[in-house]
Amino acid sequence: MKIVDIKTFLMHAGAPSLKSWASDGSFGAQQFSKNLTGSRNWLFVKVVTDEGITGIGECSGWPRVIRTAVEDLKSLLVGEDPTHIERLWQKMQIAIMGHGMTGVVGAGAMTGIDMALWDIKGKALNTPVWNLLGGKLRDRIRIYGHANTPETALSLKQRGVTAIKCGGVSDPVRKVASLREAVGAEMDIAIDLHGPPWLTPADATQFCRALEPYRMMWVEDPIAPDNLDGYARIRNHSSVTLAAGERMATIFGERELIERDLIDVVQPDTGRAGGITQMKKIAAMAEAHHIMLAPHSGSLGPVAEYAALHLLASCPNGLVLERIEDDWEGRAKTVIPHPVSRDGYIDVPDAPGLGVEIDEDFVAQWPSEMNVSIPVTEGAGSYAQGTFREHVYVQTRWRRGVYFPKD
Ligand SMILES: [Mg+2]
Repeated sequence: MKIVDIKTFLMHAGAPSLKSWASDGSFGAQQFSKNLTGSRNWLFVKVVTDEGITGIGECSGWPRVIRTAVEDLKSLLVGEDPTHIERLWQKMQIAIMGHGMTGVVGAGAMTGIDMALWDIKGKALNTPVWNLLGGKLRDRIRIYGHANTPETALSLKQRGVTAIKCGGVSDPVRKVASLREAVGAEMDIAIDLHGPPWLTPADATQFCRALEPYRMMWVEDPIAPDNLDGYARIRNHSSVTLAAGERMATIFGERELIERDLIDVVQPDTGRAGGITQMKKIAAMAEAHHIMLAPHSGSLGPVAEYAALHLLASCPNGLVLERIEDDWEGRAKTVIPHPVSRDGYIDVPDAPGLGVEIDEDFVAQWPSEMNVSIPVTEGAGSYAQGTFREHVYVQTRWRRGVYFPKD
């Protein structure tokens, strides 16, 4: 079998409702929708072979940029046997190293192609990808939903969801307290502080200590992701469970977080960490350190979600899958079939390969418009004094008191 073509499908994905996202809503609904609409591009890759088998993959990272990277890599891969996945991964890695440390952009391009190669291999052998990864430890994958208010949390709880994550930087301790009070002890609660440049390790340590009584599933990215010594400081002064890793790529990017035991949960992004090939290795590195795996998928499309399902089925330390329940309605039309959660779990796919195809006609109806997450405009999104952006990016350190409970 030989690769004969690699195609890309870039689509603009609509925003989920404000209620179903773990934002703190500080933008206001209109600004929120605009930001998320701009930020969510889904890039799918289709690897075509001379035997009629095709594989599907997804790249995140920076989809509009990565589309070009995938098109560049195509010339390396046409004519190759798609079943030698590790060899092709190494070939791509070596081919792009002259561009420097390409981070999630280079790894994102490799991710979509790698994912498609696993899909092809599974289809060629008539077996699901999880079977190629060592077999299944579980038949269904637990999910966590996004909830930023007690109402949304209770709605998810009523549908059987057993874990939630809230986010944002506005009063996180009080927010978690209100969620815990609403949902009781049975639900797991995580909070994402989004790796902010505005929190110092000292600030974040105070958050983490204040959150200890709420039995957190985890506190995610409490400081900027490149501040690993800062993670060590937090670690030494709080017992709260820490999660990070969504902005890193490949085993080399995640290595230090794991080797230094800076976290309890590693969160490689299924669309940009380097593909199933890298994710499986990252999971194994984490397993050796008793660190759990919870793939990041906050803004990912539904093909990467399939890859995460296969991975979580096969990894002993697979913990939980991020999922925006009540996402944009077009999500379900983008792939066939669209996985539906039941009682807080998604069944592990049993079809050969990843078990999913994209609806190319539907994808074509949603051309990409833009791909930056936070347009800086006057008004609610500006840096002007007294506005949200000024508050979080510029002046926070001088007004730290607003972030902590007053008693
Ligand atoms: Mg996050």
